[in-house]
This record gives sequence, C-alpha cells and structure tokens, in this order.
Amino acid sequence: MTFKELGLAEPILKALEAEGYTHPTPIQEQSIPILLKGKDLLGVAQTGTGKTAAFGIPILHQLYEGISLRQTKRKIKALIVTPTRELAIQISESLTAYGKHTGLRNTVIFGGVKQGKQVNALKGGVDILVATPGRLLDLMNQGFISFRDLEHVVLDEADQMLDMGFIHDIKKIIAKLPPKRQSLFFSATMPKDIVELSRKMLGDFERVTIKPEQATAEKVEQGVYFVSKANKPKLLIHLIEEKPDNTLIVFSRTKHGANKIVKKLDQAGIRAAAIHGNKSQTARQKALSSFKDGSLKVLVATDIAARGIDVEDLSLVVNYDLPNVSETYVHRIGRTGRANASGIAISFCDKEERAYLRDIEKLIKQSVPRMPEHQFTDGDADDIQEEKPAQRPRNNNRNKNRNRPGGNNFRGKNNRNTSKKNSNRNASRKND
Ligand code: AMP
Repeated sequence: MTFKELGLAEPILKALEAEGYTHPTPIQEQSIPILLKGKDLLGVAQTGTGKTAAFGIPILHQLYEGISLRQTKRKIKALIVTPTRELAIQISESLTAYGKHTGLRNTVIFGGVKQGKQVNALKGGVDILVATPGRLLDLMNQGFISFRDLEHVVLDEADQMLDMGFIHDIKKIIAKLPPKRQSLFFSATMPKDIVELSRKMLGDFERVTIKPEQATAEKVEQGVYFVSKANKPKLLIHLIEEKPDNTLIVFSRTKHGANKIVKKLDQAGIRAAAIHGNKSQTARQKALSSFKDGSLKVLVATDIAARGIDVEDLSLVVNYDLPNVSETYVHRIGRTGRANASGIAISFCDKEERAYLRDIEKLIKQSVPRMPEHQFTDGDADDIQEEKPAQRPRNNNRNKNRNRPGGNNFRGKNNRNTSKKNSNRNASRKND
C-alpha cells in the first residue's frame, strides 16, 4: 500500500515524499480510509506508531478538498487537543510539514507562556488549532476561540490527559463542541475511565488498535541491568563513556531525580540537560532543540515531559528508574525504534524495582533480556528468575501494589504514592 493508493490530494503526496515517507505505517494504513469516509475513529495506539500523520493527513486532505467552500477569513475547522506543550508543538510542526503545499494554516496554543502572541495568531485566522487543554479553555472563556465552524476534533493521548488531571477540562471542552463533527480519539491504553470518555466524544466510530507489543517486540532491542541504587550513576556514566557518540534519553520517575542525574553526569564531565514540568518553557525548548540538532547528547526527562519528544536519531533509551506503571515502559521505549528505525532500550533495575519488571514483562509478553554481569551490577541477577509468582499475592491489583515499595495505586485513598502523584499532577497542571 502506498500513500497514493489511499487517494490523497497531490499537494499532500508531494509533502510526504519530501518527508521521505514511502509507505504508510499500519495505523496510517488502517485509519486514513476510515477518516476519509468521514467516520469517527477510536485509535488505540502509542506515540511512535505514526499516529500524528494518521490523523493529520486525512484532516488536511478533507480541509484541502473543501478549500473552495471556505469564506475569506480563516475559521477554526479542526481542533487537536493534546496533553503537553512539547507534543502540541510537535503536532503543529508535523501539520505544517504535511500541509506545506495546501495553503492551510495551523497554530499552536499552550500554557506556561504569555498569551499575547497566541491570541494574535488566532486573530489572524487559522484553519487548524493545536492546543493543550488548560490554555484552550482559558482562551475559549476569554472569547478568542469559536467552535462554530469546527468540523474535525482530535483528542490525543487521552490516558495521559487523565493521568495529568485534565479530565474536567476535557469534559468541559467536549461539552462545547458542535454536535455535527468528525471525532477522533487516541489513547495508548483503554482503562474504564477512558472508555467512558471515548463514548462521550465519539459517534458512529471504527476502532483501530496497534498493539504496543509490536513496537517493543519487533522494533526495540531491550536489556536490563540489575544494579543497586547507589551504583546507578556509575553504570550510566560508564555506558555513556563507552559510546560517546550515542544520543540518549535517560528517564527518571521524578523531577528531583532528573536533576540529580544531571548533576552526577556533570560531575563526571558529561553535559546533559533535564526537561520536566518545573523547568521553564524556554529552558525545555532550548534543551530539546540542542538535543535535536545533536549538540547535546544526553537528555534526562520525566515521563510527562518526554511525551512530546520526537528525535530521529535517538540511539538509546535508558530507564534509570523502572516505571511503576507498566504501560509507561512501553511509552518510554517507543521513543526509540520509531516508525522505520530500530532502537535500543536499557533498563536499570534495583532490588525494589523487581516487581515492576515482572509486571512489565507480563504486559509486553516477553522477558527483557538480562545484560551481562558488569562491575557495577548487583550480581544477583538470577534471583528474579528463580522467584516464584506464588510468592506474591495475585488475587487483586490493589494488594499487589500495596506490597510494592513505591507501588502505584490510582485508587488507594491514603496511598503515599497517590498523594505524590497528585502533587505531580498539580504541578503538571499548573504548568500547562
Ligand atoms: P508519531 O507516532 O506520530 O509520533 O510518529 C513517529 C515518527 O514516525 C515521527 O518521527 C514521524 O515523522 C515518523 N513517521 C510517521 N509516519 C511515517 C511514515 N509513513 N514513514 C516514515 N516515517 C514516518
């Protein structure tokens, strides 16, 4: 299947060719025909699958085809709502690239910066608006945004929206949408709350599922080192020094942890920058652009901040901390091995994180290969394979998580991590 066979308009085909896209990815191949028919879509897919083009291309195509019907002043015809500013900027850049010969204009709005420029862009007229939820609501309430001419709406990374505490904002936005519209809903995972939310938004829809296992199993080479907490910095420094040309993202569970890693690397003479919700928008953009242009080789990121990172030549992802939510592992390693590339993801697992590793392996339905013994490793790597599943309570998730150090339980009222998560959530919300 080629893009041409999908029946796309010539200016879009030309732009895709310039981008070097020869064939649609599976999500594009499945979603584009559904969307060109005007149907709603539920896309269960993670980032890294080509999701942005899967919704961006058919929207551009439909708007381009209807271009002669448009009044002189541009009106917002398509809205894309996404959780982080990085992701928003990236989607906007992709739309600009795919739509560069169509004459369609998009703009992006997000929080954490003054609204003046964004308001001016809106006043100048746009066809497609890419937005994070907080700023969108804000500018809607101030009367700068009208949904009257809206034809297409995308809710991107819905599970992440929920995780960041945007659910109420999203419900308010959905309530304001015109009834006659094409709706697209994307989420990497489909827990109950997300299914409910998708029902609220979608009409007559078709579902496309791109399983995360495909990304991990087929594209990304994985490995795990068993290493004590104290030795993690040394192992990281060793890995970086071994291959100084590698471009890598190091994932940290917390913002504080990310800063500490940068400091340790700095002490070892390795230049790195952290991106997370407490960094200013300018600092994040600066770090990201030096990383993209190759002048900065090591980026240390928290999960939320990293959502929007799309770097073509990423050699390595390091899970400095293993995530306590297994799906996050899939998101993280999806940063490498994007679209047609292959990638490597290395995880550091200390004793307290072994339960997380087991959960991850259950989710991805494969065991993460053990890396060879190493001067900094724990040396008791076999423990994990010998431990019998029966040793852990297996009847329900709540008990399972309660037994874990730092276990994440979304429902537990008094759970230490829930409150921590909430405070992170508030921090992210504040930054939007
Ligand atoms: P996404 O899942 O939208 O974040 O896309 C992941 C990466 O794949 C981005 O770097 C895109 O530029 C790239 N990409 C998307 N579609 C294609 C395609 N059909 N061929 C090659 N690369 C693609």
